[in-house]
Amino acid sequence: MPDGYRLRLPGPTFVPARIRQATARLIVNHRGPEFRAMLADAEERLKPIFGTRNRILFFAASGSGMMEAAVVNIASPDTELLFVTHGQFGERFASIAAAVGARYDRLDMPWGSDIDIDAVAGRLREKTYRAVFVIHNESSTAIVADLARLGALLRDTSTLLVTDSVSGLAGIEMKQDEWGVDVVVSASQKALMCPPGLGLASVSAKAWEVIERGDHIPAFYWDFKRVLASLEKGETPFTPAVPIVYGLIEALDMIHAEGLPRVLARHRRLSAALRDGAAAIGLPVFGTGSNLSSTVVALSVPREMDGAAIVKALYQRHRTVIAGSRNKLSGRVIRIGTMGDFDEDTILTDLAHLENVLPDLGHAFTPGAGIAAARASLAGSARS
Ligand SMILES: *Cc1c(COP(=O)(O)O)cnc(C)c1O
Repeated sequence: MPDGYRLRLPGPTFVPARIRQATARLIVNHRGPEFRAMLADAEERLKPIFGTRNRILFFAASGSGMMEAAVVNIASPDTELLFVTHGQFGERFASIAAAVGARYDRLDMPWGSDIDIDAVAGRLREKTYRAVFVIHNESSTAIVADLARLGALLRDTSTLLVTDSVSGLAGIEMKQDEWGVDVVVSASQKALMCPPGLGLASVSAKAWEVIERGDHIPAFYWDFKRVLASLEKGETPFTPAVPIVYGLIEALDMIHAEGLPRVLARHRRLSAALRDGAAAIGLPVFGTGSNLSSTVVALSVPREMDGAAIVKALYQRHRTVIAGSRNKLSGRVIRIGTMGDFDEDTILTDLAHLENVLPDLGHAFTPGAGIAAARASLAGSARS
């Protein structure tokens, strides 16, 4: 691995040493007493992060696997789903529905805009949907969905609210029960600071009632009912991602030692400072939305520059790895992860590296302006 390699993607994220070390522990029997205790412990300490009293289902899967799981457990041949999209992951959710033969409508909004709740309400008046699917934290544009308002819209209806919080959970607030979110899926490699490979799902009583009807798209590996039945015996139905559960226990120690409210406040404060610093060197926030993410920063690249060139230069000169865009925003938007194990130094270093490479790419700005703006932002937002 190159010296000084800095993984600054919006996932997978940097895995702290203590988590990496935990994943190297002896593999034990996944149906034995040691592992059962760990699974139960992980579940209990994940619940406050989801803001739920639901059981937490564990899968060996990437985030997209969990998105597919959410679709196949809810979709049925006789009902329709509504996918609200305003970015790449929202479109992926709808593509999964298409691939598995679900019946669905798409409600597309401009990328980088907030979700127009009135437009969602309008659709719901036109048709009865079994569920509304939305991305909690749209990582391609760094916009957060207002799940509290969407939940309020659906609470007294038969329609479920299903969300992908792969890049949100543990970095931005999630109050599943209070907001009335029926299915939350997530994964290990973002704000949970773990290696990729562990998928999570939390399912409300209202959603279980729908799943219990047994009319959903056929599923075996993804079948939530099968996973719940095993969980009731303290197990997973198939071999779980044992090393990542070890890592997760460590991550949960870290999160709860810092305190969840403090973790979330740190994400808010540092992401805001990074945005302020970037704006001061001519890289403004992408899009028109106001519900900005705390776990990823999406920046507009000036017209005369190519975002891919910035990504490449940061890697070549500093071994700093950020993301461009692998979609219709390609070249126009760069993205930096602000989740998991990161601090003031992390974002100040990001800005220092950006300030180092941008002049060579022909971009003019006041040297030092990015770091100064970030420092001012940090000074104005006391650490909690
Ligand atoms: C990272 C991410 C995923 C998961 O992608 P995988 O590569 O399948 O793990 C899903 N949804 C969102 C919003 C993400 O940011």
